[in-house]
Amino acid sequence: TDPALLRNFCIIAHIDHGKSTLADRMLQLTGVVEQRQMRAQYLDRMDIERERGITIKSQAVRMPWAAGDTPHVLNMIDTPGHVDFTYEVSRSLAACEGCILLVDAAQGIEAQTLANLYLAMENDLTIIPVLNKIDLPAAQPDKFAGELAHLIGCDPGDVLRVSAKTGEGVAELLDEVVRQVPAPVGDADAPARAMIFDSVYDAYRGVVTYVKVVDGKLGRRERIQMMSTGATHELLEIGVNSPEMTPSDGLAVGEVGYLITGVKDVRQSKVGDTVTLQRHGATVPLGGYKDPKPMVFSGLYPIDGSDYPALRDALEKLQLNDAALVYEPETSAALGFGFRVGFLGLLHLEVVRERLEREFGLDLIATAPNVVYQVTMEDGTEHTVTNPSEFPTGKIAEVREPVVRATLIAPSEFIGAIMELCQTRRGTMQGMDYLSEERVELRYTLPLAEIVFDFFDALKSKTRGYASLDYEPTGEQAGALVKVDILLHGDKVDAFSAIVHKDKAYAYGVKMAGKLRELIPRQQFEVPIQAAIGARVIARETVRAMRKDVLSKCYGGDISRKRKLLEKQKEGKKRMKMVGRVEVPQEAFIAALSSD
Ligand code: GDP
Ligand code: MG
Repeated sequence: TDPALLRNFCIIAHIDHGKSTLADRMLQLTGVVEQRQMRAQYLDRMDIERERGITIKSQAVRMPWAAGDTPHVLNMIDTPGHVDFTYEVSRSLAACEGCILLVDAAQGIEAQTLANLYLAMENDLTIIPVLNKIDLPAAQPDKFAGELAHLIGCDPGDVLRVSAKTGEGVAELLDEVVRQVPAPVGDADAPARAMIFDSVYDAYRGVVTYVKVVDGKLGRRERIQMMSTGATHELLEIGVNSPEMTPSDGLAVGEVGYLITGVKDVRQSKVGDTVTLQRHGATVPLGGYKDPKPMVFSGLYPIDGSDYPALRDALEKLQLNDAALVYEPETSAALGFGFRVGFLGLLHLEVVRERLEREFGLDLIATAPNVVYQVTMEDGTEHTVTNPSEFPTGKIAEVREPVVRATLIAPSEFIGAIMELCQTRRGTMQGMDYLSEERVELRYTLPLAEIVFDFFDALKSKTRGYASLDYEPTGEQAGALVKVDILLHGDKVDAFSAIVHKDKAYAYGVKMAGKLRELIPRQQFEVPIQAAIGARVIARETVRAMRKDVLSKCYGGDISRKRKLLEKQKEGKKRMKMVGRVEVPQEAFIAALSSD
């Protein structure tokens, strides 16, 4: 296709503002999906995506559209909508020349609208502002057109109005895409360079890599090279999604499509990497490549120890499909054999856990998620800590933790509540702007550790659900962080060690000790439970000794009752873990690790 007739665009929106529904309407209007095959959220393929209504993996679809009399080709690139996947979003945006900034006409601008808009601006995209859901009785298109126009600096009259549900205004929107979005430019005669913006694993075909060709062209049967690793592969198939995979002879300047090389592991085909040809290849890669970096770690343990090999196989399979997933074996005195697994964020963790349980039938215990700490010792040695129980002992000079830049948007009546919340989470305010008279944007830097657990829930409850949040990592900062250990009868329980700010160490210790006192059954002897920083005990509870043997309750004769009791006791023992001399039912660990 002549690049002048191509338009590559994406839709960016806050979650639930109607991106997937708008994509559905476009598929229908352009005729690439027939009416009878249509189903809602056509492009959201994974089960979890459909059930949770979120888009995790991005997709690209090629659609014909005749604006006026000239047939054009539109490539619509769907982007993941959640903060954990910011890097994937940014690569999808980099494959486009323009974007539709979609805003719910009953809600207005939200945090992800802004975060995505900033990413689009960084990528120099032409931005088409659009209000969706104008069919809703609660829609206030005039008000929000003003808000949007103010934000991006256009005339309120330039804000398009559509209903993705009824289809109203969608054809006009496609005409505007052709009119406003620039055609891709590239050098057709230069050595081939294509940017990978997505890479998915297909059980039958291996890895399917989505690319945008920037310069030159890629053809079937050619040998390609990944510029970050130098690895070469033969192009077994090349083509476009329309919306099903359709093979072609090749992809030229500006075109978006897929590659299949037979590799089985997405880590060989990394998002952001540049593909070139092995012969007469390019020497300078396209910019913007980053290795995926796990931000949050958690220990995953099978509830039934004999499931360990199954868990290992399952993680191996998931990793084929998920370049950001990292793991290594780990043993815990309390929980047995398991893995320390790294995730991009909390949603990523939840999705992986859910897939392990659902697709692989595993029952798992997850330890409390933690971020990665960098520790510098006084003698200058450095440690990277992904598991709190491995926090170094000895003379520590400095501990650094990851921080994020957070954007919060809410009605202005909640400013006080939000500031208070951010304060208790060790946040530093960076700025505040009014989007309109009654809605405000607050910017904070916050330690990642303070927001990964329950920040979003706390924010929602303090703002009656009206606040939205987005954040991105901005590096690390030093903090007064200490490790709190929990000891049972003098022995450390590794699964409960946590790294917390010193001002919060006491509260953490008291909470865990109290929880464990409730959960641990009485033993033959008294069991002290302590929370300690190094050798200093900061909280203490006691499980008192059992008064009498369990059998003393039965007076002499009743044999069958006695046997029943003994059997019951034996059954209970099976799932006991020994921590030093103390017997702890595994359920106690699970209960203590579940958040309250
Ligand atoms: P996404 O998270 O941005 O992909 O949003 P979805 O496309 O999944 O839409 C979120 C919800 O809004 C769904 O329940 C849609 O049916 C609904 N929705 C989307 N567009 C419209 C619209 O134009 N009008 C109305 N009334 N509802 C819409
Ligand atoms: Mg969606």
